[in-house]
Amino acid sequence: MPLKLSNTYLSLGRAFSQQSLPTPVRKPELLLWNEPLAKQLAIEVDAQQENEQLALYFSGNELVEGSQPVAQAYSGHQFGQFNPQLGDGRAHLLGDITDTKGKQWDIQLKGSGVSAFSRQGDGRCALGPALREFIMSEAMHALGVPTTRCLAVVATGEAVYREQPLPGAVVTRVAASHIRVGTFQYFSARRDTASLIQLTRYAIERHFPDILPEKPAQNITQDNKPDERELSAKQVVDFVSAVLNKQLTLVLSWLRVGFIHGVMNTDNTAISGETIDYGPCAMMNHYHGDTVFSSIDRRGRYAFGKQAGIMQWNMARFAECLIPVIEKCLVDEGAELTDSDDEHSEAIALLEPLLVQFSEQFKVGYLAMMAKKIGIAIPQESDVTLINDLLELMQRDGRDYTGTFTSLNNNLTAQNVNELLHKKDTADESADTDDWLSWTARWYARIGDDIAGAKVLMGKSNPLVIPRNHHVERVLKTTQESGNLTALQQFLAVLRQPYVNLVETVNYQDAPADGDINYHTFCGT
Ligand code: AMP
Ligand code: MG
Ligand code: MG
Repeated sequence: MPLKLSNTYLSLGRAFSQQSLPTPVRKPELLLWNEPLAKQLAIEVDAQQENEQLALYFSGNELVEGSQPVAQAYSGHQFGQFNPQLGDGRAHLLGDITDTKGKQWDIQLKGSGVSAFSRQGDGRCALGPALREFIMSEAMHALGVPTTRCLAVVATGEAVYREQPLPGAVVTRVAASHIRVGTFQYFSARRDTASLIQLTRYAIERHFPDILPEKPAQNITQDNKPDERELSAKQVVDFVSAVLNKQLTLVLSWLRVGFIHGVMNTDNTAISGETIDYGPCAMMNHYHGDTVFSSIDRRGRYAFGKQAGIMQWNMARFAECLIPVIEKCLVDEGAELTDSDDEHSEAIALLEPLLVQFSEQFKVGYLAMMAKKIGIAIPQESDVTLINDLLELMQRDGRDYTGTFTSLNNNLTAQNVNELLHKKDTADESADTDDWLSWTARWYARIGDDIAGAKVLMGKSNPLVIPRNHHVERVLKTTQESGNLTALQQFLAVLRQPYVNLVETVNYQDAPADGDINYHTFCGT
């Protein structure tokens, strides 16, 4: 099997991770294999023929060539409370792989047994949440949302105990990296500036190589040695700025598709800007900014409409970690820092504007994103009201978020526009009350003549199908009760083309009859 890993993270040294082997499982059985992802990673295998070998590799029972598994160390703010000692308690980073385009990806097993960071946990993962992560992340990828993905789900043949015995599984996660805000916080909390500098350099090299213009002949991907180049304060600031931009794109795409992450702790915020940790996530059905599904998020800290603000808070925690790094660079560059003040004013003066910009850029980005959802390519200031009025109507009338945009697009026809704007005698189908009718008239007037252009834009911005909670749960139940993957594969085939109206799409478009009123999600299952 043409599969070989390196582990560049290990080269960072002992402070960053603990070498740790996956605990073998009793009866590994390959349930899901992500063919398109495997192809992208240049893992050319015939999953049918080699499924036993794949099950051994992706349960952790056998190590892939070159793999030196580690559990990564990190800290994190969990619901606002800082926990200095988290880390991979049930995951093993097997190593990294370079794809067909030369891009480096982490291959991580989750549910692969205990590590030095497991605390009271059992190191395991139940099958349901493993399958759910596969479905959700694959759907998100197809929706155009930056995300970690799943390469495989392997059943373990062992039970995990979560109030009751459940079948166990190991899921293989692929990520641009698993470096989190919490990874920076880990070293920041320990006042380990040398490691922070190392981590910063590694992260820049890995995610934003353009910040370091001159690549030396030797680099970490080739010889496994850390990059020893000196960083400048400007490069570190550029790095922070680049990370903030990634998170902005991430949150905007969540809001576009109605995704609620559910546990935006700083250890679940990847600096690559990928969605990570699918534990308690859910999709919003009827529009409401306060929507929360996570059973432990009692105060709604991570509600749908709060996600941009929380991300900014997480980015402030991230920026704080880089203060000593920037100070060290400034000193190396010959600056004399005012040592009388503890406030790190020079570094803060460089970082603070980035966080202020985050809010401003979010406002601009949100307007642009929402405008596209209603077919407007170049938004004007007045579109803010148009969009807010639509959201208010949706909230007031309990309208489904995804479904509303689909029906707005379906009803956007020359005939409807003509009738509403010029004859004002027939109503557009979606406009069954006066408020909706008058909003639609304002919207049609704003769209103007280029209806076809608006529809193209709306088609690209509004998915026809999302992984609706009730369908996800139904498919998971069917799969687990029957032991048959057909329903799951059929669902995945539709989710993988969310902007295309397939024959089967309609089977997954309905909003839940009860509005998901009793739907609750869980962390750590
Ligand atoms: P999460 O809530 O998924 O972000 O996880 C928070 C922390 O708990 C991380 O350090 C995880 O590795 C750890 N953790 C979650 N579930 C388990 C488990 N079953 N066994 C060991 N550690 C776990
Ligand atoms: Mg997590
Ligand atoms: Mg989790």
